[in-house]
Amino acid sequence: MKFRTLSIHAGQQPDPSTGALATPVYFTSTFSYGTAEEGQARFAGQNPGYIYSRFANPTTAALEQKLAALEGADEALVVASGMAAVSAIMYALTNAGDEVAFIDPVYGGTDAFLRNTLTRAGVTLSRYSSDQDFAERVKANTKVVLFEPITNPTLKVIDTRIVVEAARKVGALVICDNTFLTPYLFRPLEIGADIVMHSGTKYLSGHGDIIAGIVAGRSELMQKIRTVALKHIGSPIGPQEAYLLQRGVKTLTLRMDAHIDNARKVADFLAAQPKVAKVYYPGHASHPGHQAIADTATGFGGMVAIDIEGGFAKAAVFLNNLHLFAQAVSLGDVESLACHPASTTHAAMTAEDRQRAGVSDNLVRLSIGVEDADDLIADLAQALAKL
Ligand SMILES: *Cc1c(COP(=O)(O)O)cnc(C)c1O
Repeated sequence: MKFRTLSIHAGQQPDPSTGALATPVYFTSTFSYGTAEEGQARFAGQNPGYIYSRFANPTTAALEQKLAALEGADEALVVASGMAAVSAIMYALTNAGDEVAFIDPVYGGTDAFLRNTLTRAGVTLSRYSSDQDFAERVKANTKVVLFEPITNPTLKVIDTRIVVEAARKVGALVICDNTFLTPYLFRPLEIGADIVMHSGTKYLSGHGDIIAGIVAGRSELMQKIRTVALKHIGSPIGPQEAYLLQRGVKTLTLRMDAHIDNARKVADFLAAQPKVAKVYYPGHASHPGHQAIADTATGFGGMVAIDIEGGFAKAAVFLNNLHLFAQAVSLGDVESLACHPASTTHAAMTAEDRQRAGVSDNLVRLSIGVEDADDLIADLAQALAKL
């Protein structure tokens, strides 16, 4: 079946006891197994059957089946947050003494986890500045490489094909954080990545009302990650959030089509504004990563960033005059959001690191929602007119 059909039907069966068509929310911490022998069998993993909601819950299990189908994966795992996904992947797939690579920039929380926490488990860390840099300098003992195909906040593109080829030469596992594109637009497992992960907080849930994380890949790796994530770290998603996430996924394709359409219209408008010094949007042919996304994905996503003429003060005037765009971090909601990365999401970086990453004081990041594009453009136009 096609992606749009799977996003609605995969993992969903009428509830066997009532026929309820919508996935029921199973609010229970534990599951009665009735007899001592059945308990023994469930703990031995012999019988399919639920034991305790930290290990598995039927609402979450239905969602995991849906996501595995969408990613083309053997198995998917849903956890409490994107950061829970990153930590479980890293703790499950690395040992003390292993070399871990990441390609700059990665999500700020991921960067901090790798540097400040994962290194305490005895791994060594190497940072690469681009896909090419990784291909040229990858160390022979690299165990895993983590990257994002479209990065935050300047929408720099990392070509998954280059990362996969270089990683294969040294036998490293490839982990792709595909939060910005979603499986609707890009399925990295199909071009050789070993694990795909997402912050389900963003486009996959889509309504800005939950925190969630997703991991998918082949069973052999997923079983290790599942054990660490649920049994050891203990970060299951709750059934209510699992329900909201599966409901969001059912409209993923409709929402993404609207995000994509609006982002293109907004980016085209901004590119023609004299008070906008630069537009970062991978859908424009002038963007250095345009071709890589065009070749591997079926859309350019819903994110746009701009440099306003001037510094922080000008960016603040622009942001403070937006009415429809909410000033907030996060992304991928139906509502449009605007943020100033240098003073918020990227404030913990040193000024030099920000400069190296192109996160200037006049950079504004826009998550384009699914409102009417004319209203979004009118809001941006009146805020630019205040400069
Ligand atoms: C938000 C985000 C994360 C972290 O996810 P949470 O759900 O906030 O824990 C990881 N990677 C990317 C690319 C993100 O945008």
